[in-house]
Amino acid sequence: MVQGVANWNTETTEEWLQNYVDDWVSFYRKHTEDGNVASYIPILGEANKNHLGISILGSDGLSIRSGDTDISFTIQSISKVFSYIVACMTRGVSYVLDRVDVEPTGEAFNSIMHLEMRNRLEKPFNPLINAGAITVSSMLEGDTSDEKLNPLFELFERILGYRPEINVEVYESERDSSMRNRAIGYYLLETGFLESDLNITLETYFKQCSIEITIDDLAKIGTVLANDGEDPATGEEVIPRQVARLSKALMLTCGMYDASGKFAAYVGVPAKSGVSGGIIAVSPPRVREESLPFKNGCGIGVYGPALDEQGNSIAGIRLLRHIANQWDLSIF
Ligand code: GLU
Repeated sequence: MVQGVANWNTETTEEWLQNYVDDWVSFYRKHTEDGNVASYIPILGEANKNHLGISILGSDGLSIRSGDTDISFTIQSISKVFSYIVACMTRGVSYVLDRVDVEPTGEAFNSIMHLEMRNRLEKPFNPLINAGAITVSSMLEGDTSDEKLNPLFELFERILGYRPEINVEVYESERDSSMRNRAIGYYLLETGFLESDLNITLETYFKQCSIEITIDDLAKIGTVLANDGEDPATGEEVIPRQVARLSKALMLTCGMYDASGKFAAYVGVPAKSGVSGGIIAVSPPRVREESLPFKNGCGIGVYGPALDEQGNSIAGIRLLRHIANQWDLSIF
């Protein structure tokens, strides 16, 4: 029997799960003190480091939300998964795979080091580091950043039922401060990886990172990935199965910066984090134990802006690890 679900079959399940998650959110909220908010994009430094919230949405519609659930925040690097999905859907999977690889780097998200190792490099290592993500942004179709991002907004709108917006203040803060991303952009331009104008590409990338979202949105999008691209609420295929599965493989191997290996080992679900403190995690349907909560799969959104050294929500990761272990969410 998995610990923490001993009463699963006998008690009012929803209330039990709610109380359980509430308890652990208040426990892990103290851990936010161990981390720091990102400040290299100045406006992100204004977040309240003690915030912590989680939203879990099952494929069957069961929703458990706890902590600071109503805060919207910018999606940041989590957007990289979805620009990749859109690039695969519009340009074709093999076109994208030919230009951006699917190998983890073990380096920080904004590392420039591997880009310079020309003898090893034929293309950026993966689309979830900045070099790969900026290359993907350059592949999106359109002459302006708004045209390029339109299919991404359409995808979100199809899943969420509303069109998220760009937080202009965050966009401007990032645009005016991201010298490292500009350096990566110039390097990609010089080495011939960029498929559109550098300034339009960077504008696209900064804008996609500044899309405002909530943990409920992330949980909802997560249910679609958990079901290989099909929205379990409608049965509609929103993302082609092959693309959804490829994205989950990338999330598992590269989604949590240079802590992706540890996250796969200790939590065991595809996930992607962003420097604003968001995490999307995906638990596919499981066939093992009848009594497990969310056994038909779930999407999870977490927000906790205090980050650890790798740039992941420090309390968010610990909370996810706890819940995933107790409920046996791991895909392994
Ligand atoms: N916009 C951020 C950057 O490129 C995203 C980083 C992240 O969330 O990892 O610096």
